[in-house]
Amino acid sequence: MLKLTERREVFAVLALLLISAVIIVLQYFYLERSLVIDSRSALRAEVRDDRPFNGASVSAIRQDQRGLEMSCDLIKSDFAWPYCEVVIDLSRGELDGVMQGVNLTDFDRVGLWLQQGDKIQPSIRFQIHNFNPIYSKMGERETYKYHAVEFYQEFNTYPLWIDLKSFHVPTWWLTLHQLSLNNVAVDLSNIVTLGFVTGSRVEPANYQLTIERIEFRGKLFESASVFMLLIGIWALAAVVFLSQRFTLARKDLAQVKRQKQVWEKKATLDPLTGAVNRIGAHKAFAKQIYSANKSDDFSIIFMDIDHFKRINDSLGHGVGDKVLKQFVQLLRKNIRDSDMIVRWGGEEFMLICHNTALSPAVRLAEKLRAVIQAESWSEAVVMTSSFGVAQMRDESLENFIERADQALYGAKNNGRNCVVPAP
Ligand code: GH3
Ligand code: MG
Ligand code: MG
Repeated sequence: MLKLTERREVFAVLALLLISAVIIVLQYFYLERSLVIDSRSALRAEVRDDRPFNGASVSAIRQDQRGLEMSCDLIKSDFAWPYCEVVIDLSRGELDGVMQGVNLTDFDRVGLWLQQGDKIQPSIRFQIHNFNPIYSKMGERETYKYHAVEFYQEFNTYPLWIDLKSFHVPTWWLTLHQLSLNNVAVDLSNIVTLGFVTGSRVEPANYQLTIERIEFRGKLFESASVFMLLIGIWALAAVVFLSQRFTLARKDLAQVKRQKQVWEKKATLDPLTGAVNRIGAHKAFAKQIYSANKSDDFSIIFMDIDHFKRINDSLGHGVGDKVLKQFVQLLRKNIRDSDMIVRWGGEEFMLICHNTALSPAVRLAEKLRAVIQAESWSEAVVMTSSFGVAQMRDESLENFIERADQALYGAKNNGRNCVVPAP
């Protein structure tokens, strides 16, 4: 089974995957901008033909609910390049000598819905004209930069989608205007007119071209930005994930440390009485021996309950245990906080007394002996204890403990319920 945090993480990853998938699907299939030009658009359109160049072709235009219909009498004459042309005006007036057109840079393709009469021409040229004050002059149409694409009838479809990258600036136009290299590239930022022209090779005929609809399409958001967004989302999620994990790990570590301290403490305590056990006692000895104040007076008092076996034997082990607990409680009430009670074994205890010379330690032992004797013990037990006291000299720990133990032995031999200091 997954833990709650892990379940949450799995859920978060699934949610992120879903969000990413939705963003990608939206980006590729839905989030598009579009600019439609059709019969419902308020179109300003006009036709041109080769008559100004001594040609004989005649064109006319009609606008109805189907769209713009150009009829063109293409006639061969002295002019070598007979043509007819529909020009759609996209400009929205003028500002400070600059014609205001449409910015098509955010679009990436254009769809053409074209219908033709019985007689078709080999190709159609579609033109997009850009106005830029660097090279364009107001009203002089040939100074608007030409971008053209020519498509042949065998590749014509309905609608016909053309990638805007397919448009190029014809060499003849560049030759005519001799622009700096900064200005020769395709520029769709200020489109003022669109044009449909019969192609470079024409068949003399009565030709009909209906422009039903023109639609520019492009991504609403640039793919690079969308991918940056996705990377951003995932990076943010990773940061949140890592910081959460880090916080959890820190909490776990703190918990483990606390637990370790609890167990360490437990390991030094006697479970029955709560007194320190021998492990704890040796820690205290080590602290004393290696402390900076090891020259301070340091004493221990060995205690052994007199005839404890009898209590066990007459009243049972349970009472014995109770008495042992009570014994430690009683000691605790009568010693300083700095003194440490150690259960050395069975009914044998030791008091570790820091900063205590032999005579105060003996006085303390005497006091304890008296309170033990005076205590009203559980189950009306009558109880005493014998004491052996020693102050540490320049000697080994073993020797020190042995001397205290011998003193206790002496107290037992002295008839019990007494205190014997170690010589
Ligand atoms: P003495 O005055 O010579 O010390 O006599 P004593 O009976 O106290 O000494 P002895 O060593 O003969 O007996 C100690 C008894 O302490 C024996 C043992 O059953 C008892 N004892 C040791 N540990 C425990 C304990 O945890 N609980 C109980 N109830 N009894 C214990
Ligand atoms: Mg005893
Ligand atoms: Mg004993």
